[in-house]
Amino acid sequence: MGALRLIFLGPPGSGKGTQAQRLAVRLDVVQLSSGDVLRRERAEGTPIGKKAAQYMDAGTLVPDDVITGVMLAGIDKLPAGRGFILDGFPRTVPQAEALTAGLAERRLGLTAVIDFKLDDDEIIRRVSGRRVCVGCGATYNTSFLPPKVADVCDNCGQSLIQRKDDRQDVVMTRLATYRAQTAPLIEYYARGGLLHAVDSARGADAVEAEVLRIVGAAGRPG
Ligand code: AMP
Repeated sequence: MGALRLIFLGPPGSGKGTQAQRLAVRLDVVQLSSGDVLRRERAEGTPIGKKAAQYMDAGTLVPDDVITGVMLAGIDKLPAGRGFILDGFPRTVPQAEALTAGLAERRLGLTAVIDFKLDDDEIIRRVSGRRVCVGCGATYNTSFLPPKVADVCDNCGQSLIQRKDDRQDVVMTRLATYRAQTAPLIEYYARGGLLHAVDSARGADAVEAEVLRIVGAAGRPG
């Protein structure tokens, strides 16, 4: 079987980032999270980070050419034959088209696109409880995935914080952005026969098992 190359699609709070972290380990592939890449660029004060900051704080999307360049560069840094999960990219039809062209140039095929489905009330409930470790990036949720000690990471002992863009006003903008600009990708990848929907309202273990089943079936030779 060739390398697994997956795209995780879904609204903010749908669990795609958590699943990407878990499944990258489980499937021995690399998680390439566009949000994490941009947050790192910001923390390092790079020109890309400075350019992205205003969009990220407002809950809108950074320009397509900026993020596409960063993510294709991330793919190019992987050792040959290494699989990956794209988490948070692509997020617009032009990004998806640029990715399709970029993968074709590199002779890399996609295994599957997973669409993590969740309704708006549950999204808001989940995102408002989300806490992220400042050290290792692990994610928790105050209501259904709490750390053992409040506000402290189980993995590395550093503090947990709420992302600025997880505040309710920004979440509403991020949701509207998702509906207008990212949801059309569902149709884009359905046309290519790569799309699989997963009900994200279930627990993380059930969602993970479902994705493993889909990936196993999609990745089977022949
Ligand atoms: P996330 O952590 O995936 O929710 O991303 C946080 C923020 O980074 C988003 O609200 C956008 O401002 C920006 N961002 C992440 N991925 C993309 C992308 N593929 N296209 C444009 N902006 C992005």
